[in-house]
Amino acid sequence: MSDQLEQWAIVPSGVWDGQSLLKDKAVIIEGEYISAIVDVGSLKDISRIDLVGMTLLPGLIDAHVHLSDWMLPSFLAAGVTTVRDTGNNLEWVLNVRERTKVDPLSGPTIQCCGPTLDGSLVNWPKISLANSSRDEIIKNVQNLVAAGVDAIKLYVNLDKNLMASAVETAHSLSKYVLAHLGGVNALDASSIAVDEIEHLTGCIHHEHGGESPFSDSDYLDECIEQFLQNKTTMCPTLMVWDRLSRINESTFFYDKRLEWVHPHIRSAWARFPHRNLDPELKMKRQESLITMKRALREISRRGCRIVIGTDTPWPYVIPGFAVHDELALIVESGIDPKDAIRMATNDAADVLGLTGEIGVIKPGAIANLMAVVGNPLEDISRISNVKFVTHRGHNIRLEHLTAIRDSGFQLPLKDAISELIVGVADTKQLPKSPPVVFNNLSN
Ligand SMILES: [Zn+2]
Repeated sequence: MSDQLEQWAIVPSGVWDGQSLLKDKAVIIEGEYISAIVDVGSLKDISRIDLVGMTLLPGLIDAHVHLSDWMLPSFLAAGVTTVRDTGNNLEWVLNVRERTKVDPLSGPTIQCCGPTLDGSLVNWPKISLANSSRDEIIKNVQNLVAAGVDAIKLYVNLDKNLMASAVETAHSLSKYVLAHLGGVNALDASSIAVDEIEHLTGCIHHEHGGESPFSDSDYLDECIEQFLQNKTTMCPTLMVWDRLSRINESTFFYDKRLEWVHPHIRSAWARFPHRNLDPELKMKRQESLITMKRALREISRRGCRIVIGTDTPWPYVIPGFAVHDELALIVESGIDPKDAIRMATNDAADVLGLTGEIGVIKPGAIANLMAVVGNPLEDISRISNVKFVTHRGHNIRLEHLTAIRDSGFQLPLKDAISELIVGVADTKQLPKSPPVVFNNLSN
């Protein structure tokens, strides 16, 4: 790329390298990589960017998104340099993964699962494959891995046996497995070696309202023990529950960051069916969110791995910027900002199989970086004041991103995810999921 210098220095007020806050240090970039961290005083004849009053951090990672073209510049604008797509049209998502690989100025680094693997009943046909037998799900996992997906995503209507066959096949092909649980509970999913559980499903769910199993401290304790033993990761996505339960609050409607959302999606959000849900159900979802936050604090305190995901683009979950909001919700639950930021950097890098390559600032790591005004390690709200971003060593300019965004907004929305969101808004139809079951609950 023409704007990529051979060697240059970033000189911020502080560097959060993933472990500690370094002062008076400069980060040297060579091509796509960080080559060194040196004393500012030792810098000689090198072109430099001074970031006065700013903290330099590893670029953020959103481990749970569903991509559309219009979102790509928004992630970079928010300092989110890597995303994992957890359910999409296979061909489309492989294509977009390749596109940002070739042109790092066009969007974040992408990992993808392709379509989700659902049961014989399929909730979202445009982004899922049906599975009704062991042979079928084994074949589907093999085909997805052969096509080049980075991980396998299991979905709500699968039973425990089909899930176990999928996990076994995926692991034999060295692929990580994540699951949005429906009929299978979290203890069972963890026991059959599902690597990661999305949305705290199977542990807690809004269908249970405030009376969630995690209100039962014995059940929570049992889950945590099992998660620790099996190294099961949680990707809570508090954002999506929070926004759906408070969808009528005007603060979301007047959020300035909506300028990053395609106008047709914005208008779909404005007519989403959740607006008219029974108020009692909405309040139960809000109660449930409080239970989730308490549980999450305990899960974190006991040392289970948690990664940040947002479930972009559900209503008011704004691509990229939603990671800042998710971090704020995590901190609101009583988790230290440093630990929260680790969930969106180092820990997320681990689950993507990119330990030491992204999510840290050290020599040899990929130069995916962001800088914010102030110190987000003390005040998490600072994370949203993004002033500087690099993706694979390229300095990302805001004017470049707004230009891609604005021309993208002129295009019709034809991708699977946008059609899904607009479809829900227009038909007011949500798929029926099976009741969420728990070992220790009879209802
Ligand atoms: Zn999702």
